[in-house]
Amino acid sequence: RLYNELIEVRGNIRVFCRCRPLSADEVNRGCSSVVEIDPSHETELQFLPTEKERKAFRFDHVFGPEDDQEAVFSETMPVVRSVMDGFNVCIFAYGQTGTGKTFTMEGVPENRGVNYRALEELFKMAEERSASVAYTFSVSIFEVYNEKIRDLLDESNEQPSKWLDTKQTSDGTQEIPGLVEAPIYTIDGVWEKLKVGARNRSVGSTNANQLSSRSHSLVRVTVRSEHLVTGQRSRSQMWLVDLAGSERVAKTGVEGDMLNESKFINKSLSALGDVISALASKNSHIPYRNSKLTHLLQSSLGGDCKTLMFVQISPSSSDSGETLSSLNFASRVR
Ligand code: ADP
Ligand code: MG
Repeated sequence: RLYNELIEVRGNIRVFCRCRPLSADEVNRGCSSVVEIDPSHETELQFLPTEKERKAFRFDHVFGPEDDQEAVFSETMPVVRSVMDGFNVCIFAYGQTGTGKTFTMEGVPENRGVNYRALEELFKMAEERSASVAYTFSVSIFEVYNEKIRDLLDESNEQPSKWLDTKQTSDGTQEIPGLVEAPIYTIDGVWEKLKVGARNRSVGSTNANQLSSRSHSLVRVTVRSEHLVTGQRSRSQMWLVDLAGSERVAKTGVEGDMLNESKFINKSLSALGDVISALASKNSHIPYRNSKLTHLLQSSLGGDCKTLMFVQISPSSSDSGETLSSLNFASRVR
């Protein structure tokens, strides 16, 4: 229980900030960096759109442009490991489109992110504990778009896709009838499923990045264990969530589908912020029911569940408005 003790000391909710490097395009356009990270203060960053407006923000950890996927995962690992001891876990990536949410969670094939590394860690732990505990794993991958659910592992899913909905079970948790839950036996099997999920996320739209930035993408890993001596069984879940882009769509000139989408996104992201900040301030009422996302995650948010939020930001002067709004969101949930 070493890892859990470590988390207990630091609380059940953690907020990490990750700032991506300036892109070549931003450099070419003459943008400069408005974020300063002093490597000797791994919990603080300075936001300085102008020297006069300099402001410090604190997090449980700050990752700068130099920090690689491995550095990020090593801080994420204790939370991941706790799912093997029966705790429910939620890991989110929040931020404006283009700040690295998908890079942090999915990663790129030559530089894999939290999702793959987390599952790799679970398989490693199952092996280490195999003399006393038998573990089995399964995975579901889906997206929430306009409060509707689309299964990303359902190979029979024709375009236009069929939508699934949630249903309350007898123990009060939310289930998604018809959602594929694929057993996984090896880490290569995981990689195959993650690839299928990522591929299906980007179909069904003429502009792939457009659609993926308007939906929440969720990977749900279910861990079942049986103690070989005592026979004690347990079941826990780890959710890996790449949230829809947090950018505010201009209020004027947006109509129809786009306006609807933005309303749903704003509603679900602020509902998520409300739930986490209510949990962080130990309120007695937690407003889970205000969005599909929070309602679905209810049994994995709060209580002794572990929550980790990556707030992704851009260092570029051209994004400073959105960056400030993400930093303020983060301050609210901490
Ligand atoms: P989002 O999912 O938030 O829209 P992406 O993950 O697609 O953003 O990232 C946008 C671009 O920036 C991608 O080309 C990605 O590879 C790159 N990128 C993001 N974060 C980093 C990072 N920490 N280091 C290097 N490249 C990054
Ligand atoms: Mg993305």
